[in-house]
Amino acid sequence: MKGSQLLPETLVAQALGEVDPVSGGLTPPISLSTNYEQLPDGSYHQARVYTRADNPTYEHAERMLAMLEGGSHCMLFASGMAAAIAVFQSLLPGDHVVVSRVLYWGVRKWLAEFGLSWGLDVEFVDMGDLAAVQVALRPGSTRLVWVETPANPTWEVSDLRALCDLAHAAGARVAVDNTVATPVLTRPMEFGADLVVHSATKYLNGHSDVLAGAVLSIRNDPFWQRIRSWRRTAGAVPGPFEAWLLVRGMRTLFLRVARASETALIIARHFENHPAVRAVLYPGLPSHPGHAIAARQMTGGFGGMLSIRVAGGAEHARSVLTAVKVFKRATSLGGVESLIEHRSSMEGPSSPVPDDLLRLSIGIEAPKDLLADLEAALETAAMAALGASGATG
Ligand SMILES: *Cc1c(COP(=O)(O)O)cnc(C)c1O
Repeated sequence: MKGSQLLPETLVAQALGEVDPVSGGLTPPISLSTNYEQLPDGSYHQARVYTRADNPTYEHAERMLAMLEGGSHCMLFASGMAAAIAVFQSLLPGDHVVVSRVLYWGVRKWLAEFGLSWGLDVEFVDMGDLAAVQVALRPGSTRLVWVETPANPTWEVSDLRALCDLAHAAGARVAVDNTVATPVLTRPMEFGADLVVHSATKYLNGHSDVLAGAVLSIRNDPFWQRIRSWRRTAGAVPGPFEAWLLVRGMRTLFLRVARASETALIIARHFENHPAVRAVLYPGLPSHPGHAIAARQMTGGFGGMLSIRVAGGAEHARSVLTAVKVFKRATSLGGVESLIEHRSSMEGPSSPVPDDLLRLSIGIEAPKDLLADLEAALETAAMAALGASGATG
């Protein structure tokens, strides 16, 4: 069978089946060199000159991710933020940009702090309200629509097909932050997205030990060349070792995402009607406003991210946070270990996140241990609240 006929699970598990031509090693080599030999005629062995521009280990990770996303062009960046900002900084002063209101806070913070000085005209819109998106789009001057789905930390789901149709009709390109869904569950380019952005720090690497990002483009156009040039000239590159670890991490992506999604659904269902819980926010629950879109747009699961709004408010949420023993209190997401965080205090005073919300990133541990841990922590918090209010019995 030709490589191109194999399924993504197979290709990614085998790191595209590439064997080191020098040693025959099945594990890909790591290319640490910062510079490449120039031949007497002025040419280079494989056209690479300097690692700020090109490196074989970046390219291996890029080929794997391009295959997974169905995008023909991919570039690794030093972090998810470096990748996201490369897209915004490749726009021109005066360009109008429509951005989801519910958004990873780092991107929102950069737009608020630097978007204006970069000359961008940034407009935040509720992407679930297609009429509002239609009104916001300015044919001829809107250059980019930026969507995250499911979006941090309420896991709002955007209808990618509808948004891409609207944006394209107005002449705007669409970039999708696909960090949370991963290409296992959603391939935005199948719905018309022009660009896909990742924090590879999260599920793609999956082991909480690499900071990296990526941008993918469906076509090799002047805007893509500008993003490429941005990375090269601004130096927003990862280290080759990070790229190598990312290759290794992606080999187990399908297993990890499937397991995290299964367990997240078990946890979401278990706590949905729990007396100590006000609401469970998870696109896999029919009660979630984005469920119908998620059910048609996401394949094979609804992801490993969910949030719990604890009954009794911020104080109870904090008690749950201090009581957990199996979940690790930490920010970030998409690792093999389950994490819990109080999102609004992590984001700071300007955060729009409700203060009774705990964000969970589900790992690959035994679902029973995770359930028992949350159950016990919620119990401890409820007891503490009863004690504090002086209630008995
Ligand atoms: C973490 C994250 C980012 C930023 O990525 P870094 O690798 O931390 O720079 C961007 N978007 C989403 C959805 C994220 O979760």
